[in-house]
Amino acid sequence: MSSITTTNPAARRTYSRRKMLAKWLRDPRWKQMLAEHAYIPEAECVYCHRKHGQIWNGKPVRLTINHASRHLYLSEELYLTWDSQYMEITCLSCNRKYERGMKPCPSCLKKGKMVYILDRDSECNPCYMEKNPVELQRTQECQDSFKKSIKDYNSRRADKNRDDKAARPCVSWKVGNTCAISGVECPFTKSRMMTLCPDAVSKKKFVKIPFPCDRRMLNQKCRRKPGLVCSYNRTTCKTKCGYFKERQKL
Ligand SMILES: [Zn+2]
Ligand SMILES: [Zn+2]
Repeated sequence: MSSITTTNPAARRTYSRRKMLAKWLRDPRWKQMLAEHAYIPEAECVYCHRKHGQIWNGKPVRLTINHASRHLYLSEELYLTWDSQYMEITCLSCNRKYERGMKPCPSCLKKGKMVYILDRDSECNPCYMEKNPVELQRTQECQDSFKKSIKDYNSRRADKNRDDKAARPCVSWKVGNTCAISGVECPFTKSRMMTLCPDAVSKKKFVKIPFPCDRRMLNQKCRRKPGLVCSYNRTTCKTKCGYFKERQKL
C-alpha cells in the first residue's frame, strides 16, 4: 500500500501505525529484550508451553514477547522496556491468536495438535464430542435427518415441477408459470392456453401433443428407468405399460 494513493483516514492510520511498529521492532532494544527473556532455555510460551527452537511438526518454534496491555503501544519507551506485569512470552502462533481472543485447546495440545479455541471455551468441539459419545451420536442423527429432509424436499419439488410441466400442452410454459417466449407470467389455464394464447397459436411448431405418460421424455427414454427406451406408442402405453397403469391408480 502506498501512502500517496491512500485517502481513507482509517487506512492511513493503520499504515502509519504499522510503519511505526516495524521501526520499533528493528530497534536494538527489542532484540536485546528477546535475547534476555524469550530466547533463554527456561522460557516457554505461556499458552502452549513450547520452547524456542523446539521442533514442532517439522518446523522450529519461535518465541516472542506479547504486549498484553494496550498502554504499552503508547510510546516507544513503554513498548521496548520489559514489564513482567503486562508482557508475556508467547510463540508467534499464540501471539497472533491472542489478538483474536483465542488460546490453544489443552486436550489437543496433549495429543500434539495445535487447535485454537475462544478464550472462554475449555476445549474444542471434536475433543468435547470425543468425551461425550451420546452427544456425538445425537448430533450425527440430527445432521443425517436434516440432510434427509432436504433431499426429500428437493425430490418432492422436482416431482411436482415435472408433473406441472407434463400437465401443460404448451412447450413454452416454464415451471413457475412463466412463458419462455414473452418472459412474463402465463395468464392461461391448462385447457385454454393452446386456443387463447397468441404465442402458442402462432407458433404451432412449438406445440407439443402431450404424451399420455408423464414419464416419457422427448428422446423416447423412460424417466423412471434411466437408460430404458420406451417401446410403447400413445395408445399401447395406456394399456400395456405396467408403470402407466400403476400411475393411474394413484
Ligand atoms: Zn504458543
Ligand atoms: Zn481439542
